[in-house]
Amino acid sequence: MSALAAANLGIETVIYCPEPDSPASQVVKTTINGAYDDEAKLKEFADQVDYISYEFENIPVSTVEFLEKNKPVYPKASLLQASQDRIEEKTFLNNIDIPTAQWAAPKKPQDVLDTLNVWDAKECILKTARFGYDGKGQARHTGDTDIETLWTQFEGQTLIMEEIVAFTCEVSVIVARDVNGKIVHYGPMLNEHKNHILSKTVLPAPLDKDICDEAIHLTERLAKHIGLKGVLTLELFVTADNGLLANEIAPRTHNSGHWSIDACAHSQFENHVRAVCDLPVLGPARHSDCEMLNLIGDDVEKLDDMLQTDKACVHIYGKHDVKPGRKMGHITILK
Ligand code: AMP
Repeated sequence: MSALAAANLGIETVIYCPEPDSPASQVVKTTINGAYDDEAKLKEFADQVDYISYEFENIPVSTVEFLEKNKPVYPKASLLQASQDRIEEKTFLNNIDIPTAQWAAPKKPQDVLDTLNVWDAKECILKTARFGYDGKGQARHTGDTDIETLWTQFEGQTLIMEEIVAFTCEVSVIVARDVNGKIVHYGPMLNEHKNHILSKTVLPAPLDKDICDEAIHLTERLAKHIGLKGVLTLELFVTADNGLLANEIAPRTHNSGHWSIDACAHSQFENHVRAVCDLPVLGPARHSDCEMLNLIGDDVEKLDDMLQTDKACVHIYGKHDVKPGRKMGHITILK
């Protein structure tokens, strides 16, 4: 989707990825297939482009650092690093006064029980510090769970424990910041998950203006603090007392902003390309309220109704294998 937005601006995109026939490769002229640690291939790639960006946070920081020596890469490796490790991420957020759920970094099972005592709580969520997403790499510890057994399930990975937030809803805000420090935002969006995977996004989020303003304010603070050039997303919980707790940073365009292709004059992808390529970012100029529905797994095979629905904008990603839990496309329904 970024490559399509770039093409609209007359900017040619070269894709670098390990897998042949990736969705992005289907809409660009040149793809270089190589491993993330193949320096010769990475150099060949960097030699062909003026600016580099990425849209997936599970690539090694060392890959971005290598590319940074060759061409400008945005967002910077330091943001990628913070977003890859939940302990670094939460430390970083708390240091700039962005509140999160209570958390701790237990080294052994007994630490979990000791921390729960301090919190005066019986339950928590254990997550792997690295490489977890869409609920992968996490488990709930309840009063009935045997913590030793749960701990072994994580096979020696570094863990973070978090209080269970009794949130009323989940929201996200996406910001784009350009070379001159101008910031534009999308949202906040109201996000509904099924099996920990984003299922539906609603725009505008039906929340008080104060909460919406605060969510935007926190995300902008984050972007300014790191001197962002590019796009980032902050995912937040709204609590029963109308507070906000940040859950995750994504250093990229985000699934909860895909509606912006159809409901805005300037999508998150266009602003991503603009920010990275030293062009000014523009306010989204949203012209429609909307709902975005993700097509997960075999949802993509049941499109007949949607293909006949007015104002339903269907996007299919061109992934060849339909797998349960795999995001295969999305539909934006304009109101
Ligand atoms: P994550 O992988 O951290 O984005 O978590 C996936 C989903 O799990 C979130 O969107 C929430 O629905 C839920 N979740 C994660 N952390 C917590 C928490 N501390 N308290 C309650 N629910 C959570």
